[in-house]
Amino acid sequence: MKTVCELNMCNGCMACVEKCHRNAITIKDDLKYYNALIDTKKCVDCGLCTKVCPRENDNDMSKPKWWYQGWADSEIREHASSGGAASAIIRAFIKHGGYVASCLFDSGKFVFEVTNEMAVARKFAGSKYVKSNPEKIYGKIQSLVKANQKVLFIGLPCQV
Ligand SMILES: Cc1cc2nc3c(=O)[nH]c(=O)nc-3n(C[C@H](O)[C@H](O)[C@H](O)COP(=O)(O)OP(=O)(O)OC[C@H]3O[C@@H](n4cnc5c(N)ncnc54)[C@H](O)[C@@H]3O)c2cc1C
Ligand code: SF4
Ligand code: SF4
Repeated sequence: MKTVCELNMCNGCMACVEKCHRNAITIKDDLKYYNALIDTKKCVDCGLCTKVCPRENDNDMSKPKWWYQGWADSEIREHASSGGAASAIIRAFIKHGGYVASCLFDSGKFVFEVTNEMAVARKFAGSKYVKSNPEKIYGKIQSLVKANQKVLFIGLPCQV
């Protein structure tokens, strides 16, 4: 069995799946571990999957540049997990013309969406204490950034 990163070390960020133009990678979820399996019949050894894998590369573990805490008004907090800071920042970001990429619950799945519409962004509120699936979001963000749009990403550290 050939895997993108070391066995049982995959964090499920899905970056390799999105990067592989040969469609050669499948994520196997054993609940305890993720593994990114490579179909050697399809793989052409281009190395792109390893290049994007956070497990296979040194990460820049820099300290946060800023650190704030705060809370939103009660109307926002009612729908949020905690103080509603995320929802308030999302709202402000969209109001100023930006896009937001985050996790929502859709047809039984915890998927990622990117939007500049508040009606969609409202679905981001609240924590989903499950493995969310960011598959295909990176390419969408890349296209928006290349088109000079501002994108706010809210997700788990491995996805960031
Ligand atoms: C898996 C997980 C573990 C956490 N563990 C801790 C912890 O140990 N200690 C701690 O202090 N806080 C933890 N948090 C954060 C905390 O539970 C709340 O999410 C946070 O305080 C909410 O702030 P808020 O009210 O501003 O967010 P909200 O306004 O409710 O917005 C929540 C944001 O988080 C995003 N989000 C929610 N679930 C997921 C998910 N599964 N994957 C990706 N994005 C998601 C939403 O899309 C939204 O953008 C965790 C969150 C998650 C999702
Ligand atoms: S080496 Fe290239 S072709 Fe093979 S799995 Fe990785 S990205 Fe796909
Ligand atoms: S890129 Fe992400 S999903 Fe792919 S093997 Fe590495 S950690 Fe796992």
